[in-house]
Amino acid sequence: MSTHLTNALSLSRLTTPARPHKFVVRKEFLIYFIKSSFRTNIFKCEDFVSTMPIEVCAIGGYTKVGGNSIAVKVDDEVIILDMGLSMENYIHYSEDREDVKSKTYEELVKVEAVPDYSVIKDWKEKVKAIVPGHGHLDHIGAIPFAASLFPKAKIVCTPYTAEVIRTITSDEQIELPNKIISINLNSTYKVSDKITLEFVNITHSIPHASIVTIHTPYGKILYAIDYKLDMHPTLGGKPNLERLEELGEEGVILLIIECLYAQEHRKMPSEAVAKQMLKDVLHGVNSKDKVIVVTTFSSHIARLKSIIEMGQKLNRKIVFLGRSLAKYVEAAQRVGIVDFKNEIELIKHRDKMEKILHKIQKEKGKYLIVCTGHQGEPKAILARMVKKDFDFSLDDGDIVVFSCSVIPVEINKNNRDRLDEALKARNVRLFTDVHVSGHAAREDHRDMIEMVKPKHIIPAHAGATKAEMMRELAMQLGYKNTHILTDGKRIVVK
Ligand SMILES: [Zn+2]
Repeated sequence: MSTHLTNALSLSRLTTPARPHKFVVRKEFLIYFIKSSFRTNIFKCEDFVSTMPIEVCAIGGYTKVGGNSIAVKVDDEVIILDMGLSMENYIHYSEDREDVKSKTYEELVKVEAVPDYSVIKDWKEKVKAIVPGHGHLDHIGAIPFAASLFPKAKIVCTPYTAEVIRTITSDEQIELPNKIISINLNSTYKVSDKITLEFVNITHSIPHASIVTIHTPYGKILYAIDYKLDMHPTLGGKPNLERLEELGEEGVILLIIECLYAQEHRKMPSEAVAKQMLKDVLHGVNSKDKVIVVTTFSSHIARLKSIIEMGQKLNRKIVFLGRSLAKYVEAAQRVGIVDFKNEIELIKHRDKMEKILHKIQKEKGKYLIVCTGHQGEPKAILARMVKKDFDFSLDDGDIVVFSCSVIPVEINKNNRDRLDEALKARNVRLFTDVHVSGHAAREDHRDMIEMVKPKHIIPAHAGATKAEMMRELAMQLGYKNTHILTDGKRIVVK
C-alpha cells in the first residue's frame, strides 16, 4: 500500500465520526440555500417541485452477473452507466466470447443477452448520456444494439473505450445515431448545467478503465465497476487515489461498487505479480525446440505487453493469431497506448494463418504464439489448432500457457475441460491459471469505501450473495445505507 493511501486511511480512521456531521452541515446549507433562493426569487415554484432527490434504476447485472447497466436520474435528466452484454447468454447465442456479431436488440432481449430498457421507458426522452466505465463487453457490448433506443444521448467515455466501440460498430457495419465523445482520464465533461462527468483513473484489466463520477447539485455519484487498487501497474498510471479522497471530502452521496470478490479476504495482487508468474513459467522451463503458445484475454493489453517482453528475451518471433486479438491490439495502437507493430506479427485472416503455422511447424523453437481461445471456445484458434484445422500440430513437450482463469459459467467450464483433456492427450505441457484478476477483493473494497465515504452504497456485478457480503463489510465500517437491487428496481437516494 502506498504511503499516501496509508496516511489517508489512518487519517480517515481517526476522523471517521466526523462523516455524518459533515453531511448534516452540507444538508443544512442546502436547505438554507433553497429557502433563501425562494426569498430572492432565484428558483421559480416548478423548479422547486422538480428539485427531487436522485433516483436510480437497476437495469441489468443486478439479478444476474453480466449485462451491466444502471440509470441515474437527476431531476429531469438521466445518465445510463454501462450498456453491457450478458456474456453467458450471448455466447449461447453467438458462440463467441470476445467478438460481437450483428443481431437485433429485440432478438437479444428475448434471450436476455442485453439489458431490458423497457424498465425505464418513462425516462426514455430524458436520457442525456450513455457512459461506460471501461471497454469490456459486459459494459459496452450492448451499445451497438441498444444505444439507438436513446438516439439523442451522447456516448461519453475514455479514449480506448471509445475506440473499441467504434471498432465493433464499424466492423459490424452498425451506424449509431449517437455521438461518441472521448474524454481523457482524470478529465471532466459537462453534460448539462446540473451534470458533469469525471473519469477518474483506476486500474483494471483493460486500458483506460475509470471510476465514472457524476457531479450533481445533490452530491457525487461514483461508479466503481470494475476496478482494483493496483499500485504497481505494468501499463498505464496508478489509481488516482488523491482524487478519490478529494471526492470523498467533497461529498459522495452514492457509491455503486462491484462485489465480484467481496467474499475473498485479501487484497487482489498487482498485475506485476501476474507478470512475475508468467516469467516464472516462460523463463523457468526448458522450452528448447518446442513451440510456446500463450492465450489470454484479447483486451488485456498490459498482459500482452508482458508476454511480448518475455518472448523477446527468449529470442523468439512473436506471432498474434486471431480476429479479436487484432481488434483490441489495433484499437490500443490507434489511441497510442502501445506500439507493437515492430515487435509482433499480427494475423487475423485464415490464409495467412495457414502459411505462418506451416512455417512454425518446421521451426517450433523459434516462435511464441499468442492466440485466442483461453476459455476453450470451440471456434477460437487454440481449439482449432488442437483439432488440426491447420497444417500444424501441438505435440509432446510443446508448451501451452493459459494466462487467464476460467470464467465460472457452465459453458466455459465444459469448453475448457474438453480443451484441457485434448491438450493432455497430446502430451502438451500445460500451465493453467497463470493469472491475477483485475477485480478488487474485500480489502480493496474496504479501502475504497473509507476513501470515498459514501452516504449510500449499491453493490453491483455479482448477485445477491456477494452483494450481502458487501453490505456486511459496509456495516462493519459504519455505513448503514447499502441497497441490494434487482433488475428493474428503483430507489430514491437523498
Ligand atoms: Zn471489466
